[in-house]
Amino acid sequence: MENIKCKYSKKCGGCSHIGEDYSSYLSEKEKWVNDLLGEFMPEGYGKIIRIQGMKEPYHYRHKVNAAFGRNAKGEIISGVYQEGTHKIVNIDECMIEHSEADSIIRDIRGMLRSFKIKVYDEDLGTGLLRHVMVRVSRSTGEIMVILVVASPVFPSKNNFVKALRAKHPAISTVVLNVNDKHTSMVLGRRDIVLYGKGRIKDRLCGVDFMLSPQSFFQVNPEMTEKIYRTAIDFAKLKKETEVIDAYSGIGTISLIAAQQSADVTGVELNGEAVSDARKNAEMNRIKNVRFAEGDAGDFMVELAEKGSDQAAVKDKVVFMDPPRSGSSTVFLESLIKYSPDRVVYISCNPETLARDLGFLSEHGYMAKRAMAFDQFPWTAGCEVVMLLQKK
Ligand code: SAH
Repeated sequence: MENIKCKYSKKCGGCSHIGEDYSSYLSEKEKWVNDLLGEFMPEGYGKIIRIQGMKEPYHYRHKVNAAFGRNAKGEIISGVYQEGTHKIVNIDECMIEHSEADSIIRDIRGMLRSFKIKVYDEDLGTGLLRHVMVRVSRSTGEIMVILVVASPVFPSKNNFVKALRAKHPAISTVVLNVNDKHTSMVLGRRDIVLYGKGRIKDRLCGVDFMLSPQSFFQVNPEMTEKIYRTAIDFAKLKKETEVIDAYSGIGTISLIAAQQSADVTGVELNGEAVSDARKNAEMNRIKNVRFAEGDAGDFMVELAEKGSDQAAVKDKVVFMDPPRSGSSTVFLESLIKYSPDRVVYISCNPETLARDLGFLSEHGYMAKRAMAFDQFPWTAGCEVVMLLQKK
C-alpha cells in the first residue's frame, strides 16, 4: 500500500501516524496491545492478540464535523481546530473523512457568500453559521446535513437547500441545529428540520438504526460491524442466555444479541441514547429487550443483590463497552457477585482494559480469546474485544 502524506497533519494533529507504512504501523499497535494484555491470555492461545486492520484505511469516518470561521484575511474557512487551540485549520479534504461529506462541506463554504450567510465569530459572538456536520449512512447511502447556527433564522433556507441538493442529490435530510450558547460543544439542543425526515437509517449486523442529529453512533461502520460480529461470536449465545449489555448507547449490541438469546437488558447513562435504543427496538420489532437509564455500576449492584431469583437462570452473559476511562470498581465488584458465565469486554482503551482485567482475573475470571481492531486508522486508538470466562 502506498504511503499517503497529509498536508494538514502538522497543524491538525488528528492522525499522529499518517504517512507511515500501514503494515508497520499495525504491527506497532499489535505490539502495544500485547505488551499491555498479553500476560492475561491463556498459554494455549499463543499469548498473541492479533490486530485486524482495514483494507482501505482511508475515508472511513461516516460522521464529519467542520467548524466555520474566517482567517486573518477575512476569508471564510472551514475545517478542524488546530490541536490544543480554537484556531481553525482550513481543510478541503481529509484522508480519513468520507469524501462526499468533505465535498458537501466545501460546497457549503463556497455558497455562503452568495447567500449572504455570515459565519459565527467565537470571540464576538456575532454571525450565524458555526459548524456543519454531515452523517452518511453506509448501508442506505442516505446523507444528513446539519447546519449548526447561532440563531434560528437562516436566510433563504429553501433556496439554500435546493442549491445544495442540486449539487448532492444523495442528501436526504437537512437539519438546522440551534446552538446559541458560548460553548465548545458542537450541537445545541434544538433541531429544526429544513428538508426530509430529520433522520437517516443505517444498518449494522442485520439491524436497522435510526440516526438523528444527536444520536451517538460509531463513526467507522465497516470496522464497527466486524467488532460487533466478533463480540457476538465470542459470547456463544444460546436460546436460554440472559444478556446484560452495559454501556449500551443506542442499543446496538443489545439488539443484535437479542436475536440469538432469551432476553437482553441494556443499561445506559445518557437518556437520549436510551430513548433512541427503545425506538430502534420498536422499529425492528425486537421484543425481548429492555433498556434501563442510569449508571451501569448502580444497575449491577441492584442486579447482584437480586441474586437468589437469578440462580434459576441457566446461562448468563454480560457485554460491557465502557467509555475510555474503563469501568468502575463498583461495577466490577457487582459483576463478580452477579457471576455471569461469560463476559465480553469491548474496550476502546487497552490501558483501562488491562487495569480492569487485573481485577477480574484476581476474582475468578479468565481471558479466553481476544482480537484487536484498527477502528480509527492513523490515530493512536485501538479497539479490543475480549472474552472472559468464569474459572
Ligand atoms: N455500546 C455502544 C456505546 C458504547 S460508548 C455502542 O457500541 O454504540 C460508551 C457508552 O457508555 C456511551 O453511550 C456513554 O453514554 C455510556 N456511559 C458512560 N458512563 C456510563 C455509566 N457510568 N453508566 C452507564 N453508561 C455510561
